[in-house]
Amino acid sequence: MTDAEIVQRLHEGFRSGAIPRSMPIRPARDLQGLETVVVNGGHGQLCSACGERIGLFEQGSIEYRYPAVATWFHQHCGELWLAEREKPLRRA
Ligand SMILES: [Zn+2]
Repeated sequence: MTDAEIVQRLHEGFRSGAIPRSMPIRPARDLQGLETVVVNGGHGQLCSACGERIGLFEQGSIEYRYPAVATWFHQHCGELWLAEREKPLRRA
């Protein structure tokens, strides 16, 4: 999948609400087990951007935990998310 295709899927997710554009908000008290950002997370999950599975031993993948949803990204897909979430929402 090309970067352009991943970016398009990210914007589809932004429009549908499936992919949040904001960083998760940390709990007031940073309790163990309530981390909102997990580096090397999402193993075995489907990447929220490209839709391909994140390997069980993949390095650099990232998981963002929100109150109602979680997103998982390969390292590269997560970098694209960080860039695209700051940009104006694309129209379909
Ligand atoms: Zn991916």
